Amino acid sequence: MSRDFQLRLAPELAASIEKIRQHLADSEGIDLRRVTAVKILRRSIDARHRNIFVNLAVRVWIDEEPQETDFEPVVYGDVSDKQSVVVVGAGPAGLFAALRLIELGLRPIVVERGKNVRERKLDIADISRTQSINPESNYSFGEGGAGAYSDGKLYTRSKKRGSVEKILRVFCQHGASTDILIDAHPHIGTDRLPAVIERMRQTIIDSGGEVHFQTLMTSFIITNGEVRGIVCRHLPSGEEKELLGNVILATGHSARDTYRYLHSANIAIEAKGIAVGVRLEHPSALIDRIQYHSREGRGRFLPAAEYSFVSQIEGRGVYSFCMCPGGVVIPAATDKEQVVVNGMSPSHRNTQWSNSGMVVELRTDDVEGDCPLRILRYQEDLERLCWQQANRRQTAPAQRMADFVNNRLSFNLPSTSYQPGLLSSPLHFWMHKPIASRLQQAFRQFGKQSHGFLTNEAVIIGVETRTSAPIRILRDAQTLQHVSLRGLYPCGEGAGYAGGIVSAAIDGERCAEQVANQ
Ligand SMILES: Cc1cc2nc3c(=O)[nH]c(=O)nc-3n(C[C@H](O)[C@H](O)[C@H](O)COP(=O)(O)OP(=O)(O)OC[C@H]3O[C@@H](n4cnc5c(N)ncnc54)[C@H](O)[C@@H]3O)c2cc1C
Repeated sequence: MSRDFQLRLAPELAASIEKIRQHLADSEGIDLRRVTAVKILRRSIDARHRNIFVNLAVRVWIDEEPQETDFEPVVYGDVSDKQSVVVVGAGPAGLFAALRLIELGLRPIVVERGKNVRERKLDIADISRTQSINPESNYSFGEGGAGAYSDGKLYTRSKKRGSVEKILRVFCQHGASTDILIDAHPHIGTDRLPAVIERMRQTIIDSGGEVHFQTLMTSFIITNGEVRGIVCRHLPSGEEKELLGNVILATGHSARDTYRYLHSANIAIEAKGIAVGVRLEHPSALIDRIQYHSREGRGRFLPAAEYSFVSQIEGRGVYSFCMCPGGVVIPAATDKEQVVVNGMSPSHRNTQWSNSGMVVELRTDDVEGDCPLRILRYQEDLERLCWQQANRRQTAPAQRMADFVNNRLSFNLPSTSYQPGLLSSPLHFWMHKPIASRLQQAFRQFGKQSHGFLTNEAVIIGVETRTSAPIRILRDAQTLQHVSLRGLYPCGEGAGYAGGIVSAAIDGERCAEQVANQ
């Protein structure tokens, strides 16, 4: 027999299965000699009040061994002699599209402009040393896409619970901890993601699919209003080749050359709103003290604290984005003359810092003109301006938070996780007024809501611009094919239909299903 319980426990009790068992014996009168197993089904932290609780859903087996496994693995059959489908981009959307194609009996050929996830790591490490970006191998481009050296937060606003669970199970099947099936805010961690991604690639290859690295899609092969395949270039050798099949285009939000190609080839796209701002970095101990309402901070049993802020200032949303507790700020540019920042955390979230994007909504009509590329150009201009302010290096311009709010230059800066280094700079002065002024007002508000949050112990780092795609590639809502080109499936974040790892992965699966359905 098994029985389910909802428990609300102090963090020190929730941290150990032994203590949970003892609690069940004490509060539910369960005879521990008869308990064969206890399994946590769901876990979330309630930090709204002074006393912090961990909410747990647990299943207890009495007098019998559990029959169920953590998850049923997906079976990937041999597709080596099946119809080919070209998948452009090996980010979460492309990888999950490829795996789903295999499940559905189709053969994915994945092309990825960047390097495999291990070699890519070397180019990323080189950014601080050389103060320069490799345009084909960086935090956005390469195996695993922007998801590989990300935070690996796997929570999403998607309401499709079944689809979300499927994605999490596939991650577990490829080596992610099964904790992600339990936690309300699941998180893999940037240190663990590369191995998971490598295993996904291996599944694709073992099933008869192909994965081509350092291979850039340059154009489509189009006849009679239908995309029949792609032309691509192997970057080290310069060799061009054609790959035939339906095309799932999952190139992410930073593939500006791809957007420009679509525009120049008159393939329907439209401008899309984004959000822009800065990364805000606090000492993690300070965020822990604020969020857990305790001078002692998080203690031994709680994870580094998260926060979330949102406000409306002068008709635009201002909000925290991609919060990384116990994480690091990273240089996320994809070209040489840009400075762009983002954040990520390791699995244990144990650095001395906690950061988040603090961004202001930018609507399409906030930028003059009607060119579909105008938001993209706005991003580029801001990133280039930031690079100029950074003395044309990857040292990011930065300002203490309270100094920024009070229009004061910072004479020095606090210690930071940002490896290429910071340069004191008056962001209040050179950032676009509608952005800087809304951020200043929002920070004052957030400081009132959360005592201690607005402080000179925190630093803002410029600029955060890659929050989502600046373009939408227009597709039919039912078939997911491009509105005017059959055989082309714009997919994932770059197409403007997803934001974040899980939603990009879900969109990848949906595109694969539509290819198989036609
Ligand atoms: C530092 C950082 C941290 C993040 N943290 C999180 C997080 O914790 N949780 C979360 O949900 N999201 C996070 N994100 C966002 C998340 O990574 C993206 O939403 C997600 O990766 C989008 O998936 P995608 O497959 O649509 O695109 P991408 O991941 O961008 O993948 C696109 C791929 O296409 C390739 N490509 C582009 N053009 C071409 C071409 N012409 N030919 C061949 N290949 C091409 C690129 O090299 C890239 O690998 C983070 C992003 C960054 C940068």
